[in-house]
Amino acid sequence: MNYIVLDLEWNQAAPGKESVKGLPFEIIEIGAVKLDSSLNKISEFCQVVRPQVYSQLHYKIKEITHLDMKELKDGKHFSSVFKNFLEWCGEDFALCTWGPMDVTELQRNMKYFGIPLFKTPVYYYDIQKIFGIVYEDRKIKRSLEWAVDYLKISKEDSFHRALSDAYYTAMVMKLIEPEQITKNFSIDCFQRPKNKSEQIYVVYETYSKFVSREFAGKLDVMKDRDVSSTICYKCGQKAKRKIRWFSDNSKTYYSLSVCDEHGWLKGKVRLKKTDDEKVYAVKTLKLTDDDGADTIRQKQNDIRKKRREKRARG
Ligand SMILES: [Zn+2]
Repeated sequence: MNYIVLDLEWNQAAPGKESVKGLPFEIIEIGAVKLDSSLNKISEFCQVVRPQVYSQLHYKIKEITHLDMKELKDGKHFSSVFKNFLEWCGEDFALCTWGPMDVTELQRNMKYFGIPLFKTPVYYYDIQKIFGIVYEDRKIKRSLEWAVDYLKISKEDSFHRALSDAYYTAMVMKLIEPEQITKNFSIDCFQRPKNKSEQIYVVYETYSKFVSREFAGKLDVMKDRDVSSTICYKCGQKAKRKIRWFSDNSKTYYSLSVCDEHGWLKGKVRLKKTDDEKVYAVKTLKLTDDDGADTIRQKQNDIRKKRREKRARG
């Protein structure tokens, strides 16, 4: 299997103008580097796309990428560039990107231009996330250039062009243990699970993740057993609920359970809206200690207090 390290440049509506529905970011360049399974470079891909939607290059994009409209007008339509790209990718490959946006925006552009979509959620490797897991606190998100400096990779090309960013992402990948890459895969849900059997459940080293099918509304989601259940990912046993699912902002729910064998299990459900106003849930469950359990209790108390104060104010 080969790795396709992908980077996209995109354009957006000019300042003060409204985005076109369904295409907030129009891809103007696809750059990619193909690596074999030992992360050696096999080949490169780079093509500019002739814009169809935004005919003016946003000044920030121009400033960052140094692309200009004249150059883009020599490009091909997104459909042909994408077709060339897929052919170049070959049969058996895994996508790698810096950050989660490229995989989503690629599919949004495919949809907008009427290209058949991937059938299911896309599994890929987010090297920005993996860099964070391996080199620092997993929550920090660094820029590609920051990572390149940190790892003392030599900087020959400028950043923010699709091919050079793909190349630098590949260089960062080469310095990460292959096992760290493969076990920390990401899932893009532009294409949601369509039914119960397509729902996703994966267990990572320190947490489990569940992605539900779509529901008509918010209330239906939290009533669903698959969404509300709290199974310990270490042993598969049902963890007893100590604090029922509660919410602070109607998009995120929290809970606290306890597994007889493994202790505290904190739960988080994020509700996500689809383009057609449906809702699906992404649930993570994570084992925690007494402090972690207290944080959840405290969160619930704070919310209750806020509600009481609000009511008292009338
Ligand atoms: Zn357990």
